[in-house]
Amino acid sequence: MSLRVVFLGPPGAGKGTQARQLAHEWGVPQVATGDMLREAVANTTPLGLEAKRYMDSGGLVPDAVVIGLVGERLAKPDAAPGCVLDGFPRTVAQAEALDRLLAQRGETLHAVVFFDVSRPELLRRLTGRRTCRQCGTGFHLVSAPPKVAGTCDTCGGELYQREDDAEATVGKRLDVYAKETAPLVAYYEREGVLRNVDASGPAAEVYAAIQRTIGKVAA
Ligand code: AMP
Repeated sequence: MSLRVVFLGPPGAGKGTQARQLAHEWGVPQVATGDMLREAVANTTPLGLEAKRYMDSGGLVPDAVVIGLVGERLAKPDAAPGCVLDGFPRTVAQAEALDRLLAQRGETLHAVVFFDVSRPELLRRLTGRRTCRQCGTGFHLVSAPPKVAGTCDTCGGELYQREDDAEATVGKRLDVYAKETAPLVAYYEREGVLRNVDASGPAAEVYAAIQRTIGKVAA
């Protein structure tokens, strides 16, 4: 069994939550460039230091940097049966690089799942989002609050708000998405792999819709 999918959609659409679950179910890695970049920032690697200024302002990290990261990650043995790409590609140049990378290995994408959510709902989700520093579990102040304010239900770790989820930066990230990433919908439509999922409902419903979609295309 193999599964090679891209989760495409605006920030706050729930790609991370769904990617984690789908990757676990299929036994393939979740390859989330945002998480990889945040880890590089936390470890103050040269790459992390370069990426941080783009990330804090809500802009995109240069294509060459993320393409290099993903290339290295997909070459690891655990990615042989596939992966769930979450937050990559985000530009047409990245999508073309991914196509080349897969073609070199005689592989193609099974599907690109597009997460369809309205802008007001994205704003609501992003500004209320809180994440555990220790285990990465996600919460939401309104729709999925922790039992004890500021504390992770799973591991007791401290919850924090990502710097780029502050209200001022969120608007910029959505604008960058519209300009740089939204054109990928047409790109993957042309390739015949785009699958739309209504991602405005509760996480369990969205997951069921993704499973139905994946069931039709993966082998
Ligand atoms: P995310 O966690 O996916 O929302 O990503 C957080 C930030 O990391 C983004 O706002 C970008 O600055 C950067 N980033 C993540 N993935 C990419 C990518 N594929 N291309 C460029 N920048 C990225």
